[in-house]
Amino acid sequence: MNNLRAFVLLCYLAWMCLLVSMINDLQASEPSKIQAIDWYVEFAREISGCDLTVTSGYRTIEENKRVHGVTKSYHLLNRARDVVIDEPGCTTYEDLGEILYPMVTVIIYTGHIHIDDREHSLWLKGTYKTK
Ligand SMILES: [Zn+2]
Repeated sequence: MNNLRAFVLLCYLAWMCLLVSMINDLQASEPSKIQAIDWYVEFAREISGCDLTVTSGYRTIEENKRVHGVTKSYHLLNRARDVVIDEPGCTTYEDLGEILYPMVTVIIYTGHIHIDDREHSLWLKGTYKTK
């Protein structure tokens, strides 16, 4: 009887490990979203004709704390990018926001723009801009 209970418990634990592993694989992949956020940066590059550099992409929890990122930052999910304009005067962060906001969430800061793949909205330095 004890052997049977131990066997059942072992099977249960193995099943739980398998489930956790499957969920982790699923979360790690999300290929469409990971590719999409980079695609939007490339799209902004093409439309604006300006050199843009991604200064922050995926972050670990520790990196996110170091840069004072919000607790539920989309950078933690590899679904956000911070972008800077390399050529001063080529375009503005506001214009990049106009290009991108119909497709993604855009937050315009002084000196960089944040984009992530949530439902589209445009925030100017933390203030929601209605259209
Ligand atoms: Zn960001």
